[in-house]
Amino acid sequence: MSNAKSLEELEQKQDFIRRHIGPSPAQVSDMLSALEVSSVQELIDQTVPASIRLEQPLTVGESRTEVETLSYLKSVASKNKVFKSYIGQGYHPTNVPHVILRNVLENPGWYTAYTPYQPEIAQGRLESLLNFQTMTLDLTGLDLASASLLDESTAAAEAMGLAKRVSKAKKANAFFIADDVHTQTIDVVTTRAEQFGFEIIVGKAEDAVNHDIFGALFQYPTTSGEVVDITDLIAGVQSKKAIACVAADIMSLLLLKAPGKLGADVVLGSAQRFGVPMGYGGPHAAFFATRDAYKRSLPGRIIGVSKDRLGNDALRMAMQTREQHIRRDKANSNICTAQVLLANMAAFYAVYHGPQGLKTIAQRIHRFADILATGLKAKGIALKHSTWFDTLTVVSDSKDDVIARAIAKGVNFATNHEGEYSISVSETTTRADITELFDIILGEGHGLSVDAIAADVEANGSESIPASLVRDDEVLTHPNFNSYHSETDMLRYIKRLESKDLSLNHSMISLGSCTMKLNATAEMIPITWPEFANLHPFCPLDQAEGYQIMIGELHDWLVNITGYDAVSLQPNSGAQGEYAGLIAIRKYHESRGDAHRNVCLIPSSAHGTNPASAQMASMKIVVVNCDKNGNVDMVDLKAKAEEVSENLSCIMITYPSTHGVYEETIREICDIIHEHGGQVYMDGANMNAQVGVTSPGFIGSDVSHLNLHKTFCIPHGGGGPGVGPIGVKSHLAPFMPNHSVINVPGTNIGNGAVSAAPYGSAAILPISWAYITMMGSEGLKQATEMAIVNANYLTHELSKHFPILYRGRNNRVAHECIVDLRPLKELSGITEMDVAKRLQDYGFHSPTMSFPVAGTLMIEPTESESKGEIDRFIEAMVSIKGEIEKVISGEWSIENNPLVFAPHTQGDVLGNEWDRAYDRFYAAFPVPAVAKNKFWPTVTRIDDVYGDRNLVCSCPPVETYRD
Ligand SMILES: *Cc1c(COP(=O)(O)O)cnc(C)c1O
Repeated sequence: MSNAKSLEELEQKQDFIRRHIGPSPAQVSDMLSALEVSSVQELIDQTVPASIRLEQPLTVGESRTEVETLSYLKSVASKNKVFKSYIGQGYHPTNVPHVILRNVLENPGWYTAYTPYQPEIAQGRLESLLNFQTMTLDLTGLDLASASLLDESTAAAEAMGLAKRVSKAKKANAFFIADDVHTQTIDVVTTRAEQFGFEIIVGKAEDAVNHDIFGALFQYPTTSGEVVDITDLIAGVQSKKAIACVAADIMSLLLLKAPGKLGADVVLGSAQRFGVPMGYGGPHAAFFATRDAYKRSLPGRIIGVSKDRLGNDALRMAMQTREQHIRRDKANSNICTAQVLLANMAAFYAVYHGPQGLKTIAQRIHRFADILATGLKAKGIALKHSTWFDTLTVVSDSKDDVIARAIAKGVNFATNHEGEYSISVSETTTRADITELFDIILGEGHGLSVDAIAADVEANGSESIPASLVRDDEVLTHPNFNSYHSETDMLRYIKRLESKDLSLNHSMISLGSCTMKLNATAEMIPITWPEFANLHPFCPLDQAEGYQIMIGELHDWLVNITGYDAVSLQPNSGAQGEYAGLIAIRKYHESRGDAHRNVCLIPSSAHGTNPASAQMASMKIVVVNCDKNGNVDMVDLKAKAEEVSENLSCIMITYPSTHGVYEETIREICDIIHEHGGQVYMDGANMNAQVGVTSPGFIGSDVSHLNLHKTFCIPHGGGGPGVGPIGVKSHLAPFMPNHSVINVPGTNIGNGAVSAAPYGSAAILPISWAYITMMGSEGLKQATEMAIVNANYLTHELSKHFPILYRGRNNRVAHECIVDLRPLKELSGITEMDVAKRLQDYGFHSPTMSFPVAGTLMIEPTESESKGEIDRFIEAMVSIKGEIEKVISGEWSIENNPLVFAPHTQGDVLGNEWDRAYDRFYAAFPVPAVAKNKFWPTVTRIDDVYGDRNLVCSCPPVETYRD
């Protein structure tokens, strides 16, 4: 890329910055006058403590135009060699149905939505997630499923955690992993076990029963492809009161008996091959199912069916009391952001193909494996197993020659097990591919005819799946999987669900701490380029040169932006980054003979994932109080640090604080912790208030995660995917995650993995790469400054009507503010929930509710919202305040007012009965702006209690569709 020289070039280069930043220059000056400052600089000077301001600008380069950026990235991507992948091991080529590719994955209506915490405006993706759960239940043969975990290997680690919680083998401290489980899964589970202090035993599956264990994990089919009847293995484990977990291949389950029916207690796996590209490792959704009896122990989110105020079926996230937001260090797991977009893609794949279509795909895959095996055996090639679904393992002393021939033809096999190689066929395999495989393995001139072998296989039938394991029950009988098989029907189903959901393409989603900013189209374009989408994560590194270049540049920029020395891109979410960072801290202490340092200080304002992650690293949590201004109580901090000094491991602190202010004492906090020999973990979720202005490394912390899906423009996807890289100072760098299949350059051999893939969710890294490229050093800093301007303007205007809970120096806030609704609630009885729901009638998603303080809303407008949109939001809030005042004055009773009946659906407003104290039109169109862009919630307020009491987590029975 060339440096800008001419005026024309300069003009163009600024173009993306002004597209990303919402307010026009005129709007900026209006906001500055409202704030009574003469420049952005003056506001920043008033807001950000001088002691933490960067002296040097960032050095990530000048901003580039969209065109220039994509053309350069295309040249980088083209350095990736897209080989035909037969590597398997949990990742398979798939044909993404184009109707799903364009209308879900590439559609901002789907990818810009937030986690469905406001279910009345999220029924579309909730229905799709319910499809995902129903599909999981049918295929696994169990009772209860969750709505996606981060990947197969972490799902296996969660299964181990669940096993420990529910197993009656209370004295046992060991978890058994069969040696034919995927290598990366053994790696990730072992890392997790080490943190929990569990012993891991890896051995032959049959040996599980000979150990004193609380749980065991089997792979079905095994990583080398064998299809084993695991009924007895499961029974053996259960005879020891231990929990039997099975990692299963989702496609094979169309043909194989469900592991649940074979007795398994937990079944998990990756849904990737259901229409989600391999993407060099992710993002992909993991499925997870267990017995109803273990529902309180299930990790991750569960979608459940409840009722709305009018008695209609309505979907919502169920049993949230299990999750970290509420249970903190007692939570089942630290999972927050999961893989909603990918779970939806997989669910739509099942909806699109239906049970028969899926079965046909699975049968075709299996037939190709049979044909391949039959041909190879006819030529005297030794196969390791006599059963298979899609994977054959060849025992070979000419492995190197075969692999060389494969590489020469642009073909990859799995080669990471000594003296053997494996071939996994997939949905994309053709007869011509099988001929090519014969050529590679046997050398040309083998004389085999695929057509002839195919006819043979057809005539003789197949015995490669043991008769006892042939699936004979019906799956996916629900109408949702049997109604949308034409493209027209499918397109309309996707659109119907999309229309029920409020996303960023409708209005601002001002979620404090979650940074719902622009996800620019140019940033999204590269993720579906085949050069990025179709790489297997375990392909040889020299085939992924494009990825390595892109990842290398992103790495260096994130190092510069965070002020750290090294970055790991492996964690798949912020919470996963916390976990990886805490492991680094723990290992660092251990390396210095300080293994006893295990106390983690956490301010009371911390996000729930902080204590949940600390618990996963077996740390002892000590809560530090906040003072009345929302700052860390320094007296309490000093006292607690003093008290635990010898055993202090670290502090986890968010900056700017979740109270929305730049704490003045942050450097002092770092110093106190360091004086006591502790490390500082700075939660980087609020980096949107730091980039280019200050940095965690500069402030003095040792390690942070970033949420690339907040600050760096990866869309929230309706609740995931995310990327949570960690940045570390050099002394922690040796302790960053590595990977047992692909050695991650720059990390130590022997470090365990925290994710299934070496670079986590590699396929979405181009989004953040493109954002940084197009903004450049100057644009990134401007974005931070404008986030501060927007937040302060919003705060200033709202403060005329509501108390603002906390402020920093000069009465300013950072990039977000907390509106305190408690005084109004006291006077009126109207709750924060009523306000959140009423905002839906005004066309807005509620800001973050009751975090970090109950009874409040935390609002973060981000730099991407224009003053016009912010003013509309303010207008809505002020109008709602007026409504509350009418309740206070008695004009409306507390039982009959538009707040407690919010949100209003069309059915509610247009119904024949109307006995409200306010009129119908006002219910739906309370201010004129709404009429121009009305969004209708599709259900009225949902009954949370009913849903948890009557937990239903699969699609409601057919009868409810008949009326
Ligand atoms: C979002 C957030 C997290 C968790 O990140 P996930 O990607 O959802 O796991 C942690 N801390 C804070 C302050 C956050 O806002």
